Amino acid sequence: MIAEILAVGTELLLGQIANTDAQYLSRGLSALGITVYRHSVVGDNPGRLREAFFQALERSDLVIATGGLGPTMDDLTKETIAEALGLPMERHEPSFAAMKAFFDRLGREMTPNNEKQIWFPQGCTVLRNDRGTAPGCAIEHEGKTIIILPGPPRELQWVYDNQVVPYLEKRCGRKFISRFLRFYGIGESTLESVLADLIAAQTNPTIAPYAGSGEVQLRLTAAVSDAEDADALLDPVQRQIEARVGEYLYTDRWGSMAETVVRLLAQTGKTVAVAESCTGGMIASALVDHPGVSQSLLLGVVSYANQAKETVLGVRAETLERYGAVSEQTACEMAEGVLRISGADVAVSTTGIAGPDGGTEEKPVGLVWIGLAEKGKPVRAVRHQFTRDRNYVRNSATLAALDMLRRSIAK
Ligand code: ATP
Repeated sequence: MIAEILAVGTELLLGQIANTDAQYLSRGLSALGITVYRHSVVGDNPGRLREAFFQALERSDLVIATGGLGPTMDDLTKETIAEALGLPMERHEPSFAAMKAFFDRLGREMTPNNEKQIWFPQGCTVLRNDRGTAPGCAIEHEGKTIIILPGPPRELQWVYDNQVVPYLEKRCGRKFISRFLRFYGIGESTLESVLADLIAAQTNPTIAPYAGSGEVQLRLTAAVSDAEDADALLDPVQRQIEARVGEYLYTDRWGSMAETVVRLLAQTGKTVAVAESCTGGMIASALVDHPGVSQSLLLGVVSYANQAKETVLGVRAETLERYGAVSEQTACEMAEGVLRISGADVAVSTTGIAGPDGGTEEKPVGLVWIGLAEKGKPVRAVRHQFTRDRNYVRNSATLAALDMLRRSIAK
């Protein structure tokens, strides 16, 4: 299936906003094995929209138009396309009820021009929009599919994920089953270049980098008539990927690093404790986000002051004086201390300089030591040098500590 994306909006032409909707749709469609040949952009001008629409329709099986579904007079996408196809507009009562409920929830009055958003080309399928007041729609016309979507990205993404994908599945008579592989310790560009030949050669399943939540992820998508056949297509491709970058893969489920650690703790029956300085409780909090961790997390200590490191965790005054609070030795003694007090099987610690102040040449902002103590094994600590601002350093340290924990539990 060949697709084309037609974005409507004068703001795009003026460079006031980037066409991120087209990027989102292209990524999504290519993951489904649908080839996108062209993106085009026109302003809020019915003549040029009509012309661009006919050109797109001639070249493609699927045209997705975005933007211009709003309540104002210059929002003309639906009306222009309906007219171009010779379809009258019809009022869609279920959308009226949904829109009224939407305004009631916000405690706002519905304006008469909002009503424009519930008129659709005759015979189309209305695509519900739970994130806003403008639903999208899909039109089947002479063997081709035309889909019209709202412009605001969070609305477009919701409608695409929840309405368009199922619509295309029905249309193609196949189901698209995705599996997400999540990586830590490898950058997105390195991952893509290591897998470039696989990504280019695969058609079913497709392999596509997936942008989400700041982590490096791949989405494998199989197109199948029966959902039960998906694993048979997905497993061998995952094995090929693991053969190259398996050491960085932390989960093939839809779950965060912390969730993966909590699952592994439950599976192995191991217990854990944390001693945090620069992360200030973020590791413990990330673990506690997931139900079921009460069996595994025995203790979390936020020991920000040196005195607390000494009195609570038993870090030696001499260590703090000689090597400083941000050092390999302190990280090790913090991890050993919390392991001892809690009686856990494994403990992790963080001590670092999150910034913006406090850095020196020898110990710059972003330096974090992460310690790991395990029952019956020598304690160790790893040095990390993170960049950017305080929040980023603390988030990166949390993720690195959870990954270290994960590796030790999984062994
Ligand atoms: P609304 O119901 O909010 O009026 P709409 O469907 O009419 O939505 P537009 O009026 O065209 O959409 O755009 C609304 C906003 O959505 C724009 O100001 C812009 O912030 C965003 N937007 C529109 N098109 C795109 C696009 N192609 N890529 C990224 N953002 C977009």
